[in-house]
Amino acid sequence: MTTAAQDIAATDAYQRSTEATVLEVRPEGVVVDRTVFYARGGGQPGDTGRLAWDGGEVRVTDAFKQGGATIHVVDGDRPAPGTAVTAEIDWDRRHVLMRTHTALHALSGIVWRDYGAKVTGGNMEPGVARMDFELESMSGEFGREVEAKLNQELGRDRPVRVEFLPRDEALADPDLIRTKVNLIPEAVDPIRVITIEGLDRQADGGTHVLSTGGVGPVRVVKTESKGKAFKRMRIELAREGDPAGSG
Ligand SMILES: [Zn+2]
Repeated sequence: MTTAAQDIAATDAYQRSTEATVLEVRPEGVVVDRTVFYARGGGQPGDTGRLAWDGGEVRVTDAFKQGGATIHVVDGDRPAPGTAVTAEIDWDRRHVLMRTHTALHALSGIVWRDYGAKVTGGNMEPGVARMDFELESMSGEFGREVEAKLNQELGRDRPVRVEFLPRDEALADPDLIRTKVNLIPEAVDPIRVITIEGLDRQADGGTHVLSTGGVGPVRVVKTESKGKAFKRMRIELAREGDPAGSG
């Protein structure tokens, strides 16, 4: 059975819940015909939340992709195929992840623009993240300089755009070539692209705030050398619940 579930998080990161129907129950979890849950990937954790139906409810503890379907990992009884459910994410956690993810893209744009260094990896939890760069050196002073630039750019409230580009077009885009768009599996077409206007552009599956002002202030909390041309920076959102850009 093929399940082409509607993936709302890909187009509207601000939708918190949806009505849906259970398509399948797999050993790993529940598949529904449309979902607001983000399936973990690209350094962003899967959403948590709940599935609720007439007479029942279960916690969703993670979400991931399996053969194109989003699997909702649940802690408790599963609704049977055909059940009408409400799928709802833990919005506060998700919104912090959106702010964190957009902060990382802004950071990557700045380090490329001003230091010519590519990103080689990254990971995030709500409110904290790390990013690895192909840089020869990294110091506390460098961290403070980057932090100042990051907050300046975020404060410019640059719009964050989501687009779907035909694969051919994405592969020919100079900004996307830098971020190794060619490594995306051939079956992926169109390619989803996140642009922070005037700062960063990359193929990305994650969820983001509407503009950089929604991130709020960010601190660089640690800089470390992990080897030659392998430097790591850790960032943290400076406060919780910035109302700007919350949709
Ligand atoms: Zn990303």
